[in-house]
Amino acid sequence: MKLYNTLTRKSEEFVPLEPGRVKMYVCGPTVYDYFHIGNARPFIVFDVFRRYLEYRGYRVTLAQNITDVDDKIINKATSEGIAAQEVARRYTEAYFEDLERLDIHRADVQPRATETIPQMIEFIQRLIDKGYAYDHDGNVYFRVRKFKNYGQLSGKSVDQLKSGARVAVDERKEDPLDFALWKAAKPGEPSWPSPWGEGRPGWHLECSVMATSILGDTLDIHAGGTDLIFPHHENEIAQSEAATGQRFVRYWMHNELLHFEGEKMSKSLGNFEYAREITERYGPEAVRYFYLAKHYRTPISFSHRAMAEARRAVERVYRLLEEIESQAQSAAEPELNEAQLSERGRALLGKLSQTREAFISHMDDDFNTAGALGQLFELVRELNLCISEDLQPAELPLLRAGEQLIRELGRPLGLFQGAPWQEVQEGLQGELIELLIEVRSQLRIKREYQLADEIRQRLSRLGVELKDQDRRTLWSYGTASQGSDERARA
Ligand code: AMP
Ligand code: ZN
Repeated sequence: MKLYNTLTRKSEEFVPLEPGRVKMYVCGPTVYDYFHIGNARPFIVFDVFRRYLEYRGYRVTLAQNITDVDDKIINKATSEGIAAQEVARRYTEAYFEDLERLDIHRADVQPRATETIPQMIEFIQRLIDKGYAYDHDGNVYFRVRKFKNYGQLSGKSVDQLKSGARVAVDERKEDPLDFALWKAAKPGEPSWPSPWGEGRPGWHLECSVMATSILGDTLDIHAGGTDLIFPHHENEIAQSEAATGQRFVRYWMHNELLHFEGEKMSKSLGNFEYAREITERYGPEAVRYFYLAKHYRTPISFSHRAMAEARRAVERVYRLLEEIESQAQSAAEPELNEAQLSERGRALLGKLSQTREAFISHMDDDFNTAGALGQLFELVRELNLCISEDLQPAELPLLRAGEQLIRELGRPLGLFQGAPWQEVQEGLQGELIELLIEVRSQLRIKREYQLADEIRQRLSRLGVELKDQDRRTLWSYGTASQGSDERARA
């Protein structure tokens, strides 16, 4: 297998430290809000890579942290007038709910920053003892210039950083590039006792300590979005390698970002959609397909049109699975007899025998899910042709084999594992709701408000709530989820 290593900027043969085992760490969420559909990208793609490594026979141990103490959490708590712990508790729970909605498998170990404080203190002490860190009035900083390889991941030299970056001068630091490992407590903030006084850990440190304390000094894969390369991952390398004297990570993997309205989707810019809303509207497999149909190192733009297209692609496969199951039920299944196959049937047989291999070769090439899905859809096309062009009974076993292959190869992608009838129904339901929304907005343009309101009310009675927002209409099932979404926006 080959994978692209951000550290070397090359595609490299994947050789884990211990044969057959993969130690993997993916940066997790900071729990101060529901995560947005852009945040879902690393969660989904690295979930798929983990599943695929398992499909290829590796034993994977995945650790993913939960940052449950941080400035953003504290700010949210202050603005809502509740305790920071309460904010973290609420959104940690929401995070797990959203993972489940998206069928993202849980990591093997999910450490919380607040439960790893003793190890963090010990780690900082080690850095101080080795001369890589110093304290000043209850704050502890990392001495960046002492770490000779600083900048290797992001490709920035210390001098470039110094002149280019807008690093604020802070007289508590020896050098503006130094970053905080431990922050002295301010009144009302969560804090823990330490040799340097009451305080809390810095974000970069949290990941270094959680990763190495669970997986050991050297990880095989460390992953996250490209926005984390600098300074987060650069700082993680500096801290970890300074403390352990070992190489921290063999392969650094970074997903490109989701854009919306011309910029990176982000909470701070306000150009985001919650993952839970999008998942509810289009279904979890459409969200997965939306990401997997592109290479993870390609930037993607979010649009409702693209989500709807993704849903249609997923439905296309489920319709086929549904069709195959009903064909198989209506006829006794003969043994495969190649001599009796039509030309179409022989073409399908050829496709069946090469799909798995082609799928694997795409996935082995830096997890090219787009190429792999392309193979699956070529198979879908052949199967559909076979069904629509006068299906011969002798071809039934081929359809069955096609179905099994789609399900087998869909498994590492987290696609096509559902019951076909149900998925098709749910997809159709969504399409019909959207059609009604479209009719309603046309009516409103024509000022036929009475009929437009009638549509809204009738849908509401069926448990579908509409919400007009920024010249478009969002819908969701039931009042419970609507309520939580309202809260989220408040
Ligand atoms: P955060 O909670 O902001 O630390 O983000 C959690 C994960 O989402 C990190 O791996 C980020 O790199 C990733 N991420 C944040 N914004 C985007 C985006 N617009 N597109 C893709 N990934 C993102
Ligand atoms: Zn991290």
